[in-house]
Parts: sequence; C-alpha cells; structure tokens
Amino acid sequence: TSNDSDKTIVDSNTSEVTVLDRVDSVDSQEDPLGQHTWKRVCSLSVALKEWDIPYEELTKEMLEPIGTGRFGTVYKGQWHGDVAIKMLNMDPNTDNAAQLSAFKLEVAMLRKTRHENLVLFMGACMKPPHLGIVTSLCRGSSLYTLLHVRKEKFAMSKSIIIAQQVSQGMGYLHAKGIVHKDLKTKNIFFDKDKVVITDFGLFNVTKLCHANRHADRLQIPPGWLCYLSPEIIKSLLAGAAYASTELPFSQLSDVYAFGTVWYELLNGNWPFERQPPESIIWQVGHGLKPSFGSIKGSKEVKDMLLMCWSYNPEDRPGFSQLLRYMERLPKKPFTRSPSHPIHLLSRSAD
Ligand code: ADP
Ligand code: MG
Repeated sequence: TSNDSDKTIVDSNTSEVTVLDRVDSVDSQEDPLGQHTWKRVCSLSVALKEWDIPYEELTKEMLEPIGTGRFGTVYKGQWHGDVAIKMLNMDPNTDNAAQLSAFKLEVAMLRKTRHENLVLFMGACMKPPHLGIVTSLCRGSSLYTLLHVRKEKFAMSKSIIIAQQVSQGMGYLHAKGIVHKDLKTKNIFFDKDKVVITDFGLFNVTKLCHANRHADRLQIPPGWLCYLSPEIIKSLLAGAAYASTELPFSQLSDVYAFGTVWYELLNGNWPFERQPPESIIWQVGHGLKPSFGSIKGSKEVKDMLLMCWSYNPEDRPGFSQLLRYMERLPKKPFTRSPSHPIHLLSRSAD
C-alpha cells in the first residue's frame, strides 16, 4: 500500500489490481476501537478506464520527439492541445503482465496529483505494447537548461522563490504519500515565474525499461549520483540494484535531492563536479560534504543545505519545515536578518 487513504492489492496469478477504500466508521458502537475497515471499491482496471487514452488518438497527428530519458522517448503531441507523451521503452525480457500492473499502479497514483507546481497528468496509454503517460507540455526550460546550459545566474530572491515553489509541490506529494524518487533540476521546469515538477513516482516504471537494465544491473546515468542520499548510495554498494531489492527511497531521500537542487540554484554548478563516480560514492557514503567555498550566500542559506544533506535521514527537515525556514531567509546574499536570527531547526519542531 502506498499511503494510508487507500490500499492496493495485486493478484500475482492474474496481475489484476484491486483498490480498497478506507471507510471511517461513523458509528463508534460499530467500531469502538476507531479502526478503519476496508471496502473493495472496484477493480483498478475499471477505475482507470476514464484515464485511458487510445494510442491511435495520440498518433492522429505527427508526434515530434522532444528528447530521450531513462523512461524512453518523450514526444510533443496533440490531445486537446499540446501535450507531452512519455512512451515507455518496454523490456522484452520482463513479464508483460507484471510490467502492465506496475504501470497501472503508477497511473493510479498519478491521477491523484493536483497541485499548481506539479505537471498535469492527463491520461495514459494502457494497452501493451504502447504504454505511455500523457501530461501537460511544460513551456519554458528546465532548471537544468537554465543553470547548466545557459549558465544563467539567479538573484538570491529568485532562487528562494524557486526553492519555495519546489517545496510546495514536494510537500503536497509527500502529504499524498508519494515519494518523488527522481527530484533533479532536469525534472523541474520554470516558466513565467512558475515552477512545475515532473516525473514524480515513475522510478519503479523506469526500472522496467529495457534501456535501464544491463546484465540485470541498474544503470547509473551521469549526473544522477549527486542527488542520491547516503543511505541509497550505501544500498547501491550493498548490491540492492543487482538483487532487485528496492532502494531505500523515502520522503527524506527526496529532501536530500532537494538539497542538491538548492546547491545548484546557489552555485550554478553540481556538487562534486568533475569528480569521478567512485570518489563521489566514497565521500557521500562516509558523510563528507562538497566544498561550500564558492557558494555565495549567508550562513542561513548554507545551513539549509547542511540540514537537507544530513547524513542521518531523521535529521533532515520536512518540506513544511523548510518552507517556514525559507520565509525567514535574508533575500540578499551576505545579509543577516538581525531581528530574526534563524536557528537550526530540530526535527521535533516539525
Ligand atoms: P530527463 O528528465 O532525464 O531529462 P526525460 O525522459 O524525463 O529525461 O525527458 C526527456 C526530454 O523531454 C527532456 O529534454 C525533457 O526536458 C523533456 N520533457 C520531459 N517531460 C516534459 C514535459 N512535460 N514538457 C516538456 N518537455 C518535457
Ligand atoms: Mg524527466
């Protein structure tokens, strides 16, 4: 089960997915302990029907490739206006039914996301071999393009506004029980002063993609390492990716990745840039932080980085805590707010 408000059961024989809905008992006599009962609502296949977009409808007009990622190819297409279509590059060696039910679980999660700072999920192609996700097309550029390709330098006030909007979107996802698992500047778009986060929760689907598996090992794309928290790095080293054991992604590993995004916003560079992967893995696994020497910003700004990058996941703040912290950040570099000294927030204050 992905969160407390609904429960999903996958039948391993038929790969049929069933969603159960939590029913809070109104009558305390009936449920004296205040426990929840679960009502079988419907088969997920039926529930997802209204989100199904037939592949033929999308291909009526030419699909224009935008780029390729871990997931497969992303196209610009037409479906009641411009949309982005992510077609899954399915792994021919993996069981079809298992891929389909994993995919349907992701779709079931996506249809619950409705927030200004999250890409709009519009539907999905759910008939193999054409599995794909249809979302709104993001205008503007990704933060990756702005910072690393165009080398734009953001004023502190702009960096804070972006980080606040990312935190709002992320806080919403976490409140819905969804872990992003792939928060990075490539998945954050910025257009007309608005942040849009993409690709949340799709990591399990991407694992099923052919391009990502080689000799049964998860491929680590360049630029991905610096978003991985120490606990994930350590479990990669322990062979979780080989043994198809789940990597320990959590809300707090998302906070670690947000720390890296914050670093990029401040510095215009990645942490550990130009260092070999083995060296990054060793340093992160041993709790070493990259140099803060080149960061322009007040102590509070750097403290936020340290909080997000805490070695121990429990020491990292939640997004609501980060939002409160950011409200009080001095908007100009090197200035302190004398009337409101900011102390490192402890987790218990969340
Ligand atoms: P990555 O996130 O690693 O860049 P993706 O598969 O998510 O890989 O994206 C491939 C390309 O498609 C990238 O250039 C990305 O910017 C673009 N893209 C992905 N989603 C959207 C979207 N919703 N709107 C516009 N462009 C998108
Ligand atoms: Mg992406």
